Amino acid sequence: MYERILVPTDGSDTAEVAVDHALDLAEKYGAEVHALYVVDTDSMSLSLGAEQVDRIRQGQYGEMEEVRTRAEKATATVTDRAEELGLDAVEHVSAGRPHSLIEEYADDNDIDLIVMGSHGRAGIRRTLLGSVTERTLRSTTIPVLVVDARAGT
Ligand code: ATP
Ligand code: MN
Repeated sequence: MYERILVPTDGSDTAEVAVDHALDLAEKYGAEVHALYVVDTDSMSLSLGAEQVDRIRQGQYGEMEEVRTRAEKATATVTDRAEELGLDAVEHVSAGRPHSLIEEYADDNDIDLIVMGSHGRAGIRRTLLGSVTERTLRSTTIPVLVVDARAGT
């Protein structure tokens, strides 16, 4: 049923709650774990020029290299844990609109389950669901397991 599980992460502790669930399922099903971090260029476009945002979308970070480093650290946290359990793991960093690229990655890589947090970096204050999770649920037809970040609080 589940051969490739995608864990989208923004590197936050609230996103981390999904990882335990993803890894447990991956172990049970012998699934490959894919970790994806999307550098959110919409939120960056407030502070960066359009040209710089375009370059980042193409993977040319220039003086924003630390953004990529942070992203790679977040995906490596997931894949390191997967590999410790003996699971095959793939990590990927891209830049654009998070929910669009999550859906695109899932389609392109034959993902059969997406496991993500109810909330992310902005935290669990008001909304029932973070906007990336809500938009992913609306746009993809692949099953999504949403792990409620409020459960442990
Ligand atoms: P909002 O962003 O709407 O202000 P939030 O940050 O609390 O609120 P989301 O961004 O929707 O909530 O985060 C929910 C989940 O979506 C995270 O736990 C993570 O799994 C995934 N996610 C969020 N941002 C990204 C991203 N940039 N790249 C990959 N996955 C992400
Ligand atoms: Mn967010």
